[in-house]
Amino acid sequence: MNCPSVDPEIVARRKAALARLDFPRRLWVGGQWLEVSGGEVWAVRDPATGERVGEVPWGGRLEAGRAIAAAAASLPHWRATSLRRRSEILARIQELLRELREPLAFLRTAEQGGPHVQSLAEVDFAADYFDWYSRQVRRLRRRRVVKEPDRSLRVELQPVGVVAAITPWNAPFSAPARKMSAALAAGCTLVLKPSELTPICALALAWICHRAGLPPGVLNVVFGDAEAIGETFLEEEAVRLITFTGSTRVGKWLMAGAARGVKRVFLELGGNAPFVVFADADLDAAARDATRLRCANSGQVCIAANRLLVERPVHAALVQKLAARFSRLRLGHGDSPDTDLGPLIRPEAAHNAERLARDAVRRGAKVVCGGRAACADLPERFYPATLVDGVRPEMEIARTELFAPLLPVIEFSGEEEALRLVNGTEYGLAAYLYTRDLGRARRLAGRIEAGVVGINHPRPLAAHAPFGGVKQSGFGREGGAEGVLEFLEPRLIGIREG
Ligand code: ADP
Repeated sequence: MNCPSVDPEIVARRKAALARLDFPRRLWVGGQWLEVSGGEVWAVRDPATGERVGEVPWGGRLEAGRAIAAAAASLPHWRATSLRRRSEILARIQELLRELREPLAFLRTAEQGGPHVQSLAEVDFAADYFDWYSRQVRRLRRRRVVKEPDRSLRVELQPVGVVAAITPWNAPFSAPARKMSAALAAGCTLVLKPSELTPICALALAWICHRAGLPPGVLNVVFGDAEAIGETFLEEEAVRLITFTGSTRVGKWLMAGAARGVKRVFLELGGNAPFVVFADADLDAAARDATRLRCANSGQVCIAANRLLVERPVHAALVQKLAARFSRLRLGHGDSPDTDLGPLIRPEAAHNAERLARDAVRRGAKVVCGGRAACADLPERFYPATLVDGVRPEMEIARTELFAPLLPVIEFSGEEEALRLVNGTEYGLAAYLYTRDLGRARRLAGRIEAGVVGINHPRPLAAHAPFGGVKQSGFGREGGAEGVLEFLEPRLIGIREG
């Protein structure tokens, strides 16, 4: 079975756009495009069609070691580079991202499948981070002096050193951009290890940074054997901080490994965001925003609405509105303007969504719309927007991060039960509250265990605001004034006076 075809005119536009991304598909180390020693390559494939997007080298320990050495060698120069120059380079990266947004969006859709408009939005979001830190870096007060009668205490903010950044495929531009922009602003040098599913997006970022004037070695990109590269990050003394966005499983492994070398880690891990709708909410807005939050990027977003909690009196009305919206969403190739839902990244992700929906049904829940049968004519990587009603909190579908356009609906009565359900998870990344009673919303927001809370608002994110989780969703903040502090450490220098 084939993916629904894309209009030939769009195919031609994509081809022309991608031709503008004129860089070698290799690793980027020390300002050079690097082949790997054994010559091993890896074919990157379009998840919608299985077609080959490109071929890249498959790196490992050796390449990771070289990248770390390059980052360490360029550190003295970069940390001494003036804040003004750093700011200029970050601003230029931002400009180039915006100039190239269309080719970059086609590349993102080719590698990870998301609809074109969502790919454009992600490129813009990545640019926002470079924009924000290009301004923020000028405000970094590097020095503070406390004068006492017999001494002065000088506090200097120093970059932590070489940073290893590991990023996932679902946000192939914005996840690296958040880490890179803040780390570069702070004066750190980096080795970026993007997901092997979206390596060319990361190479595009490296190419843009190079064109913007970032000196060789300040940013390096390696990928391939993730575990061997991860091990190298943990082993090499020069790496002082590991910043990771991805699964809780890998995050825990990195955190445990970082203890060996007492390296800093900061982690943005999985989520299980509740979307809570009280009886007094604007149900149309709630249905619209829950649909968007569950189905953008085919549900493969860490802050996606993962569980819908609805107050009993409006349960039937809300489910009906949601079902109407879910049923209208069209599956297809992300390059088609008609597509709302692209493919999932792997067929196993669709199998898992179907398994969870069936498990819930076996335990008494009901599929209101969707399910694999609703798109049986499409390749198995596709999964339609699926609403499962009558879910109980102990079911697996309500407890795990779904990463698919699959939404379980759970009923509740009153604020206290809502709060118990909201916090009844080991995760704590995002939560959404829909109610017209803003006093209640604010009161509850303060008791919610999550790094981000949206009140009648589906996307409370911005480059100038700190983002991150609590509990097993991780720690550390990206974006905002806080984000750059993760990459800095205060050093105290005391001088005897007189
Ligand atoms: P997902 O299942 O969504 O791909 P992962 O946590 O497996 O989430 O992947 C996130 C990132 O972590 C990717 O870049 C991946 O290659 C990387 N990764 C996976 N396993 C390891 C590991 N053992 N060490 C370092 N990085 C890893």
